[in-house]
Amino acid sequence: MALPTEPQTADAAALSAHRGAILHFLGDPEDGAAPGAYEYFEDGLLTVAGGKVVALGPAAELMQELPAGTPMTHHTGKLLLPGFIDTHIHYPQTDVIGSGGRQLLDWLNDYTFPAERRFGDAAHARAVAEFFLDELLLNGTTTALVFCTVHSQSAEAFFRAADARGLRMAAGKVLMDRNCPAYLRDTAADGERDTRALIEAWHGRNRLLYAITPRFAATSSEAQLASAGRLAHEFPDAFVHSHLAENHDEIAWVRELFPQARSYLDVYDRYGLLRERSVYAHCIHLDEADRGRMATARAAAAFCPSSNLYLGSGLFDIAAADAAGMRFSLATDVGGGTSFSMLRTLGDAYKVAQMFAQPLAPLRAFYLATLAGARCLELADRIGHFGAGAEADFIVLDWNATPLLARRSAQARSLNEKLLLLMTLGDDRAVAATYIMGKAVAHRAGK
Ligand SMILES: [Zn+2]
Repeated sequence: MALPTEPQTADAAALSAHRGAILHFLGDPEDGAAPGAYEYFEDGLLTVAGGKVVALGPAAELMQELPAGTPMTHHTGKLLLPGFIDTHIHYPQTDVIGSGGRQLLDWLNDYTFPAERRFGDAAHARAVAEFFLDELLLNGTTTALVFCTVHSQSAEAFFRAADARGLRMAAGKVLMDRNCPAYLRDTAADGERDTRALIEAWHGRNRLLYAITPRFAATSSEAQLASAGRLAHEFPDAFVHSHLAENHDEIAWVRELFPQARSYLDVYDRYGLLRERSVYAHCIHLDEADRGRMATARAAAAFCPSSNLYLGSGLFDIAAADAAGMRFSLATDVGGGTSFSMLRTLGDAYKVAQMFAQPLAPLRAFYLATLAGARCLELADRIGHFGAGAEADFIVLDWNATPLLARRSAQARSLNEKLLLLMTLGDDRAVAATYIMGKAVAHRAGK
């Protein structure tokens, strides 16, 4: 990371302008009822003041109205896009990426739980949170819905680090009171008390939001799920964040533990954990009734293709989700997922869709990584697009980041072809800069 090279205004509230190719979404490009689902300006201008978007349009038009002396950054040959929104990721699993050879339940026991144990140490939690946030920003991810560990101090450390950087982040302490090592276990009463204290301390503070975070049905007692449901009811504007229907052994286990439930999803439903702002990672092995229930509850799925492939969990069925009207967006699920890069994750999403013979259109892919995430988090009034008044978290993507990307991009005939190349060949090297509230915070040297 090098110092930003764009003109710096003395006053953060002052108007500044960014010129380059600009793309953002107003709706889902696959939704036939949403004509004009995106805007693309090959030579566009984005103006920002006080950390918010002021205007977006063709440079030739907007330049006319720009007050003389407005600082302007030229992103020549690059693409401006709203920052990526990763709707499911574990910051304490930064150090288990690439730990292989296991499927979900053994992977948790062998790699993840021992790594999470260390987050009882606040200094360790702080150091990993800083590394994790650096990595998100280098990869162009400006908002994420984040799992911490069972330790309150893991959430404290994360929130403190995100707040110091002025980021819009959502996170929560894990609730887990059974079927896990004793060193990672809370109790229903302690989990509820600690969650309540964290909500009071952090939810709505600056740009931070809280997520009530039962790890998954199998690691919480009925008393704990009931307590999570009470919290979800009491704090309707907080998130519920958990895992659902990822792996066959996991599903069989949940069936044994909750024989009265119709399905895995129904366990969460019975405890009041299915509602707007509920985000469930994976949602691979659902039936039609489950998908329909997710849709009516306005709960959202986080599609984690790289994790699903790496852990051999299965393939998320995009067409089935669409048919049911189930909301979903893209997520990395680091450390089951193998990359912080939403571009690489889109590359995996494309391959998963191909296995169903449902090619993922590049424009829709970039929608899933931006506005769809904001919608699933009920934050589309603030992030995920360049509408006037939106928070100016955005990224600058470089079509020429690598020799191969440059060579192939030069041959591309359309925006769709260029986007497909970015998600096939791109990674953190293709993120030239990341802006938070209009300010460059990560900038790749030499680009
Ligand atoms: Zn996960």
